[in-house]
Amino acid sequence: MLEMRPVCEKCGRELPPDSPDAVICSYECTFCREHELEACPNCKGELVRRPTRVLPAPAVAVEAGPPGVQVTPSGYLLNRQDGSQGRLSDLEKVEILNEDEVYFVLIGPENSLVIPQSTPGTAELLAHLQKLPGFQHDKFLEAMDGQGRFTCWERPATAESAP
Ligand SMILES: [Zn+2]
Ligand SMILES: [Zn+2]
Repeated sequence: MLEMRPVCEKCGRELPPDSPDAVICSYECTFCREHELEACPNCKGELVRRPTRVLPAPAVAVEAGPPGVQVTPSGYLLNRQDGSQGRLSDLEKVEILNEDEVYFVLIGPENSLVIPQSTPGTAELLAHLQKLPGFQHDKFLEAMDGQGRFTCWERPATAESAP
């Protein structure tokens, strides 16, 4: 599957999967169309417009509710303190970031959610994460005591699903 890199490698602008403004080379190096690059600066290869990808709509429209994190059948939903909402439909990696405060960092193929431990719902989130096959509970405990970033879970590498 085409890798939809989320940002321009030249200016760092966000290029979400549905953006019509991304160009890519055959290695999926990704840039804004507006730089009018003649060729990929990394590999000198041809750049073409990236096809847009329509992201599946959430099964149920959820009103932005009070701050909190929820595990839903369609993924993870975060209502932030500022009223904005973040979603993650597919989980590839779980990190714990311990910098004065502890954060759950849920990383997906296209975006990530950074969830302060003080957010309502993190106890339920943790209970859910601990059931992921291969979740490293000892890393989690280490993260609670230490400073820095700790990877607690990664999606096991599997072969592409057979047709
Ligand atoms: Zn750019
Ligand atoms: Zn390239």
